[in-house]
Amino acid sequence: MRELHHFVNGQSVSGTSERFADVYDPNTGEVQARVSLATPSELDSAVQAAVNAQPAWAATNPQKRARVMFEFKRLLEANMDELAHMLSAEHGKVIADSVGDVQRGLEVIEFACGIPHLLKGEYTEGAGPGIDVYSMRQPLGVTAGITPFNFPAMIPMWMFGVSIACGNTFILKPSEKDPSVPMRLAELFLEAGAPEGVLNVVNGDKEVVDAILDHADIKAVSFVGSSDIAQYVYSRGTANGKRVQAMGGAKNHGIILPDADMDQVVKDIVGAAYGSAGERCMALPVAVPVGKKTADEFVERMIAEARALKVGVSTDKDAHYGPVVSAAHKEKVENYIQMGVDEGADLLLDGRGHTLQGHENGYFIGPSLFDNVKPGMKTYDEEIFGPVLQVVRAETLEEAAELPSKHQYGNGVALFTRNGQAAREFASKVNVGMVGINVPIPVPVAYHSFSGWKRSAFGDHNQYGMDGVRFCTKVKTVTQRWPEGDIGDQSFIIPTMR
Ligand code: NAD
Repeated sequence: MRELHHFVNGQSVSGTSERFADVYDPNTGEVQARVSLATPSELDSAVQAAVNAQPAWAATNPQKRARVMFEFKRLLEANMDELAHMLSAEHGKVIADSVGDVQRGLEVIEFACGIPHLLKGEYTEGAGPGIDVYSMRQPLGVTAGITPFNFPAMIPMWMFGVSIACGNTFILKPSEKDPSVPMRLAELFLEAGAPEGVLNVVNGDKEVVDAILDHADIKAVSFVGSSDIAQYVYSRGTANGKRVQAMGGAKNHGIILPDADMDQVVKDIVGAAYGSAGERCMALPVAVPVGKKTADEFVERMIAEARALKVGVSTDKDAHYGPVVSAAHKEKVENYIQMGVDEGADLLLDGRGHTLQGHENGYFIGPSLFDNVKPGMKTYDEEIFGPVLQVVRAETLEEAAELPSKHQYGNGVALFTRNGQAAREFASKVNVGMVGINVPIPVPVAYHSFSGWKRSAFGDHNQYGMDGVRFCTKVKTVTQRWPEGDIGDQSFIIPTMR
């Protein structure tokens, strides 16, 4: 059986814990590998490697650090096919979605190629007599990232791409469900010219997460995963004096106004709700048509669109989406479908019991569609994270906009309309961090930042973009005086007093 261990100080290191997690093939339900689960002392060895590598890496001028990023980008492109297949085999998403996963991470690496420019500080000449003031951004030291199963390429690159470019060294703790791609990224990063110890991968579960949160030499922790764990990571990490950015779950709404282009809406929402089996934190699992006519038309067309979707194995080029990640997750999603029925919503399409010939033990779920879902139902209030679309009907835009604004999660929201004024006001007022106007999945490009609100994100800094640079650096401000001639008995005068 294939085994995955750790990647420390530029090499594969065998785990010593004798604790392993099984890595499944979601297409077949079979165990395809096992991954070693690290102990706190194995983490400590990786942190020591990162501590040792950090001063020289921070002292490497930013153009040279950028050159490693440029080369890493080239290697990602050259190895795209291999990475995408590796990713699909453990996650279950179709190859096109895996390419997208790598590509969106690669775009953050492209952003990090601009690090010399991004790190420039500020300068004030003549803040007082002979006095200049300047600020500079300095790295924090060793930082860590803890990532979820659903984007095993993109999310690690969100984190280590920016942090390492800033001059930090990094410990990555990937999801134990699909660790192969993160391990391969670390090998490619070394091949790109990163010194040993700059990027280390430690596999594991809660035990190693807790060790990361408690380790005195780790100065900042980035987390992406479910909200309860995000909140736990945020509380424990900050209590230990670390910077923490912890992104959580989501329940994103797509509001459809009567003037929207229904052809576009139906195509957009079918992809955003069911694509990647609904396992995206920016998926659109709630549709809110405004007015009865819009709702009736939307539901009728969505039934047809969803029925036409092909669920297949992840290598099937014609499949729209593949299996969900695990047997436990399949059961959880199917239980939510039953709960929706019990809560009184109308189940128009039932994806339970979906089997694929030759892959009877794969974790497939067909598209499910509920109508007449209402706030207060558990299935509406909670994240399902599967191929389930819920329709909540509203009478007015105001009523519709209140739904995402009052929901516990605040990751993304979309509005479909031709009315620019309504869209502008909606974007300004809605209580959600990322807004799409006629864009179903408004994940910001790499030079903006990923900015969920409420229980979708804990901490003050967003992921990647300039906020990522701010999170990964601390600002030092220098006030310097070089007076003319001999300083003699001139006493220092605070600039504002002159
Ligand atoms: P998860 O919370 O189960 O796991 C995330 C990470 O936390 C993994 O590395 C895991 O090993 C670790 N972990 C799990 N249990 C832990 C515990 N008890 N203590 C400490 N660490 C623990 O999440 P997942 O199932 O891998 O990912 C899906 C979730 O991630 C969804 O809720 C999804 O919405 C969310 N997500 C959010 C974003 C975002 O940017 N907001 C992006 C992607 C995914």
